[in-house]
Amino acid sequence: MSRGIVIDSIRSMIDYDHNLTAHCNACRHHCRLDLEALGRRLGFEHSTLARALAPKLVCSKCGSKNIALINSDGAADRKKFHAG
Ligand SMILES: [Zn+2]
Repeated sequence: MSRGIVIDSIRSMIDYDHNLTAHCNACRHHCRLDLEALGRRLGFEHSTLARALAPKLVCSKCGSKNIALINSDGAADRKKFHAG
């Protein structure tokens, strides 16, 4: 039952059907990240914690690096991320 799954890598996001949406704080452009493409580029073990991943992202619309990440998992799972 309780396996203490922590979804904090690109691979685990894909495996557990979670999505990440990137939101540009500069121009408010936002889109769902292509986790497959991201994994191929950064490695599937790369962390999806915002502080690790957000600095790697650039807005495709305005080029800003001021990106926020929004976890948009389908299933309600309160234990998906470590707190810090
Ligand atoms: Zn932007």
